[in-house]
Amino acid sequence: MTTTIIGYPRIGEKRELKFATQKYWKHQITADELHTAGRELRQHHWQTVQAAGIDQVPTGDFSFFDTTLDTAFLLNLVPQRFKALALNPLDEYFALARGYQGDAGDEKALSMKKWFNTNYHYIVPEFDRDTEIQVVGTKLFDEFAEAKKLGINARPSLIGPYTLLRLSRFLDGLTPDDFLPSLAAAYARIITKLRALGADWIQLDEPALVYDQTAKDLDRFTQLYDTILAAKGDGHILLQTYFGDVRDSYKLITTLPFDGLGLDFIEGPKNKDIVLENGLPDSLTLFAGVINGKNIWRTNYQKALALLAELHQPTTRLVLSTSSSLLHVPYTVRHEHHIPADEKKYLAFAEEKLAELVDLDHIRQNGTDTLAYQENAALFATPRYVENKTLNAQIAALQPADYQRTPDRATRLAIQAKELKLPLLPTTTIGSFPQTAAVRRNRAKLRRGEIDEAAYNAFNEEETKRWLKFQEDIGLDVLVHGEFERNDMVEYFGEQLEGFRFTDNGWVQSYGTRGVKPPIIWGDVARTHPITVATTVFAQSQTSKLVKGMLTGPVTILNWSFPRDDVSNKLSTEQIALALQGEVLDLEKHGIKIIQIDEPALRENLPLRQSDWYRQYLDWAVPAFRLVASKVQPTTQIHTHMCYSEFGDIIQAIDDLDADVISFEASRADFTLLDIIKQVHFQTHVGPGVYDIHSPRIPSEEEIVDIIHHILAKLPADNVWINPDCGLKTREEPEAKQALINMVAAAKQVRGEL
Ligand code: GLN
Ligand code: ZN
Repeated sequence: MTTTIIGYPRIGEKRELKFATQKYWKHQITADELHTAGRELRQHHWQTVQAAGIDQVPTGDFSFFDTTLDTAFLLNLVPQRFKALALNPLDEYFALARGYQGDAGDEKALSMKKWFNTNYHYIVPEFDRDTEIQVVGTKLFDEFAEAKKLGINARPSLIGPYTLLRLSRFLDGLTPDDFLPSLAAAYARIITKLRALGADWIQLDEPALVYDQTAKDLDRFTQLYDTILAAKGDGHILLQTYFGDVRDSYKLITTLPFDGLGLDFIEGPKNKDIVLENGLPDSLTLFAGVINGKNIWRTNYQKALALLAELHQPTTRLVLSTSSSLLHVPYTVRHEHHIPADEKKYLAFAEEKLAELVDLDHIRQNGTDTLAYQENAALFATPRYVENKTLNAQIAALQPADYQRTPDRATRLAIQAKELKLPLLPTTTIGSFPQTAAVRRNRAKLRRGEIDEAAYNAFNEEETKRWLKFQEDIGLDVLVHGEFERNDMVEYFGEQLEGFRFTDNGWVQSYGTRGVKPPIIWGDVARTHPITVATTVFAQSQTSKLVKGMLTGPVTILNWSFPRDDVSNKLSTEQIALALQGEVLDLEKHGIKIIQIDEPALRENLPLRQSDWYRQYLDWAVPAFRLVASKVQPTTQIHTHMCYSEFGDIIQAIDDLDADVISFEASRADFTLLDIIKQVHFQTHVGPGVYDIHSPRIPSEEEIVDIIHHILAKLPADNVWINPDCGLKTREEPEAKQALINMVAAAKQVRGEL
């Protein structure tokens, strides 16, 4: 064995899985039909990987929603309240992922969190006093057997117990330690079962090892794996890590009887030194992640080979692999019809990365005198774009004052209160309204050339008018135009800015059936024309209420794009920030008084090691945000929005963004952040989302009243805004409307009590 991958995109090259799943949710196909669609897809993927020449193919990476949820399901980690719904297994599975509202009852979904430093989301398993760990699921075993039957050299894979515990939620005063023996025993049973089915190698994903580790953490790891590894017999266990290095655990790992160790040499460059300094036991095969699993650029063969040569000691058994699962890149470049051929050759998506692995392996065996090597060398000798020297000189000349808004926030907020005259507990939304079939059809027509720009805009303006009327009718205080012109919050801005490229089909799974199509930052980014001014000014002209302008922030644009690999993320982000600064000032000049700069992805690229947060990321990410807003008038209110509430640990950085108001996602996370906000000297006004927009469930007025009471028990009413926890574009119109009606009614009711 010389080549493998960690995992493959499961959604299908044309997003077949998404469409089938959604049909099932809408009762348009049966559970059997959905299972068939899933089976056909994963079989096609295994065969593709094997046919590309990859020696060993992971299974278990397929999922109808999320592989962490699959692992929870496998281990009977289904909270009692979901079991009580007595649904069939597939519907129970989807109930955990999406919540359930129907004849059987009414349950909110389990919470969902970002997967390490990616834009993929996993479902957070829950452990409580009723938890009884048992190996009850069959998916892992069935899929392995299925692959084996097809003649695939399959390696079953699943999330390891250590990472599972680290990512789960513990209720009823329990801790991971309460479950170590039972979980280890369950994993041992899984290994035994897989072995009985004929599995030789088994992959356990333990990315949690790249976080900072305490002695207690490592002790837990040892306890778990002592039991698990005892069950392997003469099978082989691959301990797979990714997204960083294993500096804290390498010594421990190499003393345990693992057979393979998967290391990420792209995001964990330190791994190289760790291996070279400490050596690798002869019994351990190194699965070297040298092909970037998270980015879309062709691999520089010369560099990859040099790294492999360094790693290759005489006795080293080396398998070439990807740095992470290919889940994080689009499926194939083959379906890209708008990127010219001379640019396309710089790109490698999942399928093309398979070929790169096989190329590298081939070159290692046969030398650099091969065509693949020569072509690759020629590619990296040709520049991809022309540098914008003026812009880069402007960035080099930025001064501290360029990052500083004046006067200070408290003074500004007082000025804004007079200017904006909003009621107590002002209500607003996060920006988007449902992207209905009609909205998408309108965009598709423009794309296909069936309508012109004017007709396209006219439709969107009608939609904006309709929703402005609704917002006025229900009594919202700060209105939005609805973002109908935006296919996606990042792609839309990328399209208007210089320096980006776009794919037709470059979809990457974000959560469940939801995908994103990240733009590619191709070269230097600059603003050549106004972006949101026309739509925002149009909306403001239709109402006497305030309309909030909507921008996507620089850090999010960077984090949700595929970044360059030839300059720093800091430089790209500064370029984007300067472009957005122009947009903010233009909106202000046209009379827009509230401008929201969304940074839902700010937290996402935090280094996984806390010690690096301020040194390697926040030190430039926070200033980039400040650069966007630093030149506006004190009367202009700057909002920001984040799609999560786990920022207790970076609370100071969030306040340092120097926004006037922040809305965030609190409803899925029990509002724990409020306690922290209360404790620290947090000055930004806050709109802790009062209901979860990720679920079709409609919150009742009373439920929202309770939540507002809860918020007001912790925060002064003067500092609080009332809003949903994110944009409404993924919701159906009736749900979105009824939820907002209930939200405004609830805010009014509470205002009446104050
Ligand atoms: N303004 C965006 C919207 O409402 C924000 C989306 C997001 O935070 N992910 O869609
Ligand atoms: Zn959001």
